[in-house]
Amino acid sequence: MAGMRNVSDAGEALLPGMPKRLLRASPKSLADFSDCPRRYRYANVDRPTPARGPRFAHHTVGTALHKVLSSWWDLPVEKRTPGAARQLLYADWTPAGFRDTEQSDRWRARAAGWLTDYVAGLDPTEEPRARERTVSTMTERMTLSGRVDRIDERGDELVVVDYKTGRSVCTDDEACGSQALALYVLAVRRTMRRPCSRVELHHVPSGTVAAFDHTERSLANHARRAEDIAVDITDATERMAAGEDPDAAFPAVPGTQCGWCDFRPSCPTGQAAVPARETWSFLPEDDAAAG
Ligand code: SF4
Repeated sequence: MAGMRNVSDAGEALLPGMPKRLLRASPKSLADFSDCPRRYRYANVDRPTPARGPRFAHHTVGTALHKVLSSWWDLPVEKRTPGAARQLLYADWTPAGFRDTEQSDRWRARAAGWLTDYVAGLDPTEEPRARERTVSTMTERMTLSGRVDRIDERGDELVVVDYKTGRSVCTDDEACGSQALALYVLAVRRTMRRPCSRVELHHVPSGTVAAFDHTERSLANHARRAEDIAVDITDATERMAAGEDPDAAFPAVPGTQCGWCDFRPSCPTGQAAVPARETWSFLPEDDAAAG
């Protein structure tokens, strides 16, 4: 584009002749741009970051389970019991996003039941290689980093484990199709310098595992698609830095997701598209029977 300046991913001008800075990206930021470029801009470009909406109850449940499934391994081996997992959950629980205390308490008990069953299937002596570990890699266009829930060591290989806490049981096709998991494999290889090709989705509520063993070809396909997104993000960022209307460079893609988008309070397009969802509306409807 004529007159376009060389800019970093943060929109800073670079001097002529300087090498372009690589885009700093994560699987989440790439997914945000694919879903709605404006949401990407709100989260990664605009500063100060625009106001976000309230917390959703299903996020509270997911965050609590993730936290316990990491901190449980910090306990001495003999204390890694299902009961200890329940205690950790109860100690850290918050009612954020729930309709009322009664609903929060019911879901805390339900999540504790899931944890009890899941943890009972773990061998407390088989410590994962890493938990909540940030891994990163680099491509032609970006540095990419993200945090992996758990990295297991199985023989010579490392395995990427991602906890899922939603209502749907995961499938092997999801494990295969997840760009985030494929990128984590590449980042684990680079960061930990060990072979890694298997990804697993551990659905905590059902205790089921969906898995996929990546090939070099499947990883290359995911990496190529991620690189294409990085090119589009860099292009949009440069156009905005060159003076293009931010809403044109990063267009809104309104849809049902605007009902629960984090940035809905800052986005007139999203507000006009659909009504806001209640913050507890993603809890399964049969929650009255839970506990
Ligand atoms: S509310 Fe909708 S249109 Fe606005 S940023 Fe979020 S997803 Fe995009």
